[in-house]
Amino acid sequence: MVETKNIQDIYDVAIIGGGVCGTALLYSLSNYTNVGKIALIEKNAEVALVNSKYSSNSQTLHFGDIETNYSLEKATRVNEAATMVKQYVLKHDPNQEIYTKYHKMVLAVGEEEADFLRERYETFKDLFPDLKLIERKEIAEVEPHVVEGRTQADELVALSTPDGYAIDYQRLSQSFVSRSVGQNPEKVIDLMMGTKVSAIAPKDDHYVITANGKTIEAKAVAVTSGAHSLLFAKSLGYGQDYALLSAAGSFYFAPASLKGKVYMVQMKKLPFAAIHGDPEVHDASQTRFGPTAKVLPMLERHQYGTIFEYFKTAGLSWDAFRSFFAILSDLTILGYMIMNFIYDFPVVGKFLFIRKVRKIVPSIRFKDLKFARGYGGIRPQIVNLRSRKLEMGEAKILGENILFNITPSPGASTCLKTAEEDTRRLITFLGKDYWFDQAGFVADLTAEH
Ligand SMILES: Cc1cc2nc3c(=O)[nH]c(=O)nc-3n(C[C@H](O)[C@H](O)[C@H](O)COP(=O)(O)OP(=O)(O)OC[C@H]3O[C@@H](n4cnc5c(N)ncnc54)[C@H](O)[C@@H]3O)c2cc1C
Repeated sequence: MVETKNIQDIYDVAIIGGGVCGTALLYSLSNYTNVGKIALIEKNAEVALVNSKYSSNSQTLHFGDIETNYSLEKATRVNEAATMVKQYVLKHDPNQEIYTKYHKMVLAVGEEEADFLRERYETFKDLFPDLKLIERKEIAEVEPHVVEGRTQADELVALSTPDGYAIDYQRLSQSFVSRSVGQNPEKVIDLMMGTKVSAIAPKDDHYVITANGKTIEAKAVAVTSGAHSLLFAKSLGYGQDYALLSAAGSFYFAPASLKGKVYMVQMKKLPFAAIHGDPEVHDASQTRFGPTAKVLPMLERHQYGTIFEYFKTAGLSWDAFRSFFAILSDLTILGYMIMNFIYDFPVVGKFLFIRKVRKIVPSIRFKDLKFARGYGGIRPQIVNLRSRKLEMGEAKILGENILFNITPSPGASTCLKTAEEDTRRLITFLGKDYWFDQAGFVADLTAEH
């Protein structure tokens, strides 16, 4: 007997993965479209317990003003996207449970870095009118510990702005969910927590998703499962030109040493943020330094079962091997990776890491720095197997009525912009009976509140 499924039982959209990207998409689909039946499928008991968890990432809302590895073009895009998150929290979080506002700066130490920042300021000042070029005296007024104990011979320059936001992306995800389910009683929005997807397969004109031994059917699918998105894409024959270099990031804590975020000038060639320091999002009495970037063959931090999945994702192909070899044969990258591996070791790691921290806070004492056990997720950096290079930022793979997002930093800062673009794509997948009030979505997140 052929089993027939009533069309009513089929979801319009299934979102696989309830991190900040999946929940932002849920928010957009629920509130700004006529999509009536949505499933959010998450393997953990709650949303945002992987990279979007408050302790997994650097809690920065990246605008591109102090991230010196962003080009003007990239900073323009990230600024637009981050402004949406800023507007969301200003509008919906009056008690500041999701965010804290701090000033922030990128610090140049020495003549070469100082010249680089001065030049950069000229290029970026129109895009970021609040950005100021400040010198030693003003830096000392804003961040006394950055100057205290530092040799006078070091030239000091910073690009500084009062407009810095530390975001608890876990609470942001929870807010997206409550603003989706609670406010749309006319829609079917099923939150399937504790539901681990093991397979996605096309069937006729829709998809069948297998999870916990059951099947869920959907006309269109958004796979927002972090590093696992590439595994799912490959299982359907997509994304064959990509592999992942998983960079785990760890942190160290110190008693309050900084009043706002202090970034360093980024190393060229590397897609990772330079080590920086900032107060904890909900606890200014602690300063967090990091993240490191330790390469680990895993898709999720501390989840050793994902080692096998990592190798499945990388594909043990000749292309993958040649790409990793090409990346690691660059001595800057290799040296950086070896160093970052050691930062996590007891004693010797701290001994080496404190030299980086002292570039930011010269007077910090060895005993003040503590390894933040259990903190730090994994950034799935994209390796392009064609160009054999590491790519900066997120990757999107488009298939037939299905899309996949792989989201290293600044994936959390851009979650609402990504949701906007994905909503538009999903509406196109679903066909002419569906609409997206894109103008309304953008207007709600761009107006000053
Ligand atoms: C050390 C570090 C520092 C970072 N700092 C910043 C920063 O300061 N600013 C910034 O913008 N970004 C930062 N990032 C990046 C940011 O954390 C990510 O871009 C963002 O959290 C990605 O969100 P996501 O929803 O795509 O993925 P995740 O939050 O990882 O969510 C993916 C979800 O998919 C679920 N899932 C996976 N597989 C399955 C399955 N089979 N079935 C069902 N569910 C599944 C997972 O359980 C998880 O909940 C940092 C990342 C790291 C690791």
